[in-house]
Amino acid sequence: MIPITKFTIRNNERRAVMSVLQSGHIVEGPVVKALEQDFVKYTGAKYAIAVNSGTAALHASLYGLGIKQGDEVITTPFTFIATVNSILMVGATPIFVDINSDTYTLDYSKIEKAITNKTKAIITVDLYGQPADYEEIKAIAKKYKLFVIDDAAQAISASYKNKKIGNIADITCFSLYATKNIMCGEGGMITLNNFQISEKIKRFKNHGQLPGEKYNYAELGYNYRLTDIAGAIAREQFKKVDFVTKKRQKIASMYDSYLTHIKGITVPTKKKDRTHVFHQYTIQITKEFSYSRDELRNLLKTKGIQTEVYYPKPLSEYAYLHAKGLKDSKNNSTLVSKQVLSLPIYPDLSATDIRYICHTIKYIANS
Ligand SMILES: *Cc1c(COP(=O)(O)O)cnc(C)c1O
Repeated sequence: MIPITKFTIRNNERRAVMSVLQSGHIVEGPVVKALEQDFVKYTGAKYAIAVNSGTAALHASLYGLGIKQGDEVITTPFTFIATVNSILMVGATPIFVDINSDTYTLDYSKIEKAITNKTKAIITVDLYGQPADYEEIKAIAKKYKLFVIDDAAQAISASYKNKKIGNIADITCFSLYATKNIMCGEGGMITLNNFQISEKIKRFKNHGQLPGEKYNYAELGYNYRLTDIAGAIAREQFKKVDFVTKKRQKIASMYDSYLTHIKGITVPTKKKDRTHVFHQYTIQITKEFSYSRDELRNLLKTKGIQTEVYYPKPLSEYAYLHAKGLKDSKNNSTLVSKQVLSLPIYPDLSATDIRYICHTIKYIANS
């Protein structure tokens, strides 16, 4: 079976973990500090704060911005559940705004209509690895005095108008979960430029204490610390981030060249002013294709090819989220959730496997 994703652990990660184990300091310490500095250098943001998941990064960021019960946060319903759960975690209400059907990111032209006097922030999601429309979204945020939080769990190393993701929104949240472009099993990172907010987040992730202020509890806190063991893996992975990105982009362009001309298949849209880091390579299967998306998925499975649907329905359809917004029944989120199909993509995916996948899709298309 060709899996949809596969992480790469080599000897440098193994050695780095061994060295932490032998150092006697396995919890958050010097290695995590160094990892934070790696992110500062790479993104150009002033501060980086490590946490133990992308979800924790989102939760801590919303808390850091003072978002609480009674507040509204605008976001996309076409994302991983953590984006929206983090809004509930601080007691605020998610307000869903539809996406563009070609880029899968927030349709900025629909944001203003969703703003009320309770709106405090917009969470953008750089879905599949391509940045959202930051110029337009930041202009709206400025006009209404809202914060922009970038859920960049899938977009490490991407850039927008020559600026790295991590230094575009007010706060950026990365995930280092096992399937992400670089990873350490479970982990997350927050980058930002505001000192006060960064101090608030540092307290929040460590029981309400600031570094060097043991047992001085200033406010509610959690234990969202990352271990040096995980940090050591993440640091080694981070050294390869540009290499990994190039590999993923190369795989994507190979897929593009094989699949572009197949009737009923839409290949990913790449915007010229930003880089797509292809956390996922996601095609759309439209009515012109000879089989339905789910039939194609099953046929590929019988041929030993794993695919996935990210995501099978918009989050606005889950009852517990008490969804607000997205009233248009013919919304893009619902439409694309029925058409998207993500194909295998990871740095070790061979050219032979890519050709096999594409030839199999072509064969199915013509059968
Ligand atoms: C993975 C992911 C998250 C959550 O990250 P975890 O590290 O798994 O908690 C949040 N948002 C998006 C878009 C993701 O893909």
